Amino acid sequence: MRIGIDLGGTKIEGIAIADDGGERLRRRIAAPRDDYAKTLGALTGLVHAIEQELGVQATVGVGIPGTMSPATGLVKNSNSTWLIGRPLAEDLPRLLNRPVRFANDANCFALSEATDGAAAGAAVVFGVIVGTGTGGGLVIDGRVVTGANAIAGEWGHNPLPAARGIESPGPACYCGRHGCIETFLSGPGLARDYAESGGAGGGAIVTAQEVAARAAAGEALAGAALARYEDRMARALASVINILDPDAIVLGGGLSKIDRLYESVPRLWRPHVFSDRVTTRLVRAMHGDASGVRGAAWLWEAHDDQRRTR
Ligand SMILES: [Zn+2]
Repeated sequence: MRIGIDLGGTKIEGIAIADDGGERLRRRIAAPRDDYAKTLGALTGLVHAIEQELGVQATVGVGIPGTMSPATGLVKNSNSTWLIGRPLAEDLPRLLNRPVRFANDANCFALSEATDGAAAGAAVVFGVIVGTGTGGGLVIDGRVVTGANAIAGEWGHNPLPAARGIESPGPACYCGRHGCIETFLSGPGLARDYAESGGAGGGAIVTAQEVAARAAAGEALAGAALARYEDRMARALASVINILDPDAIVLGGGLSKIDRLYESVPRLWRPHVFSDRVTTRLVRAMHGDASGVRGAAWLWEAHDDQRRTR
C-alpha cells in the first residue's frame, strides 16, 4: 500500500493506493497555516489515521509546494512560506519512523499522469500546470527528474521565447525578472492581457475562465486574447520540445480545461521546433486535481516495495 500526501497551502490531502493502482481511501484536512509544528502534527496524524482505517502500514510520499534544497536539505522555493528553511525531510521520517520521499507538487503531477494517466507508457513526459502560476515537472522512464538544483521543469521563470512588441521586456514577475513565461501563461496573466487589450470595459475583474467562456461565445476581444495566449504557449512549449523532446506534454490546472488548446497549440508550435515533423502529443491531465496526491503516492515504486521488505 502507498500513501500519498499533497501538502497544499490551504489543505492537506491524503490518498491510499493499493498495489493494483486502485484508490482505497482519500482524506482532506485544513492546512495549519503559518505553523510548522502544527503542519508536522497534521501530516503524522493523517498518515496514522489512514493506516488505522485500512489496517496496514504503507509507504509515504509527500508532494510539497517548493522543493528540498540539495545543498542544505531544507525546504526552499515554497509559497507556503512557513515551510521555508525547515528540516521537513528530517522531521517527518523521524516522526513516522520510516523513510519518506518528497517531491515538488508539479513533479508529482507529472509522475501521476506518466504512471497511469494521460501520458501512461510515454518515456519522456513534461507536465505543466497552468493555473494561479505556471509549474512544470519532468518524468523520464517513470521517474521524477529532480536535478542538481532541484529545479528541473521550472520553465515558468524562463523569458517568453521570441518576445515581440509589448512582450518585451514584458510584465514584472514576483521573482524579480520581467517577461517570465508565467506572467503570460498563468490565469492572472491571461486575465491581465485581456483587460489591457480593452476587454472587461468597466474595469470589473474578469477571470481567465471567463475570458475563455467569452471567446467560446464569439466575443472578438476575448478571442484575440486567447489566440495570443495560444501563440505564447506554443512558443514556450517549443523551446521545451527542442531541449527534452518529450513524447507527451500533459496540461493540468484551471486553464487546461480550455478545449481548443489541444488543437491550436501543436499546430502553432511546429514552426518553432527544430524538426520537420513533431510527434509530441499535447494532452489534458486525466486525474485532474487528484494528480498531485496520486503522484506523491507513486514516488514509491513497486520494485522499491520489494527492496524495502527484503
Ligand atoms: Zn518570474
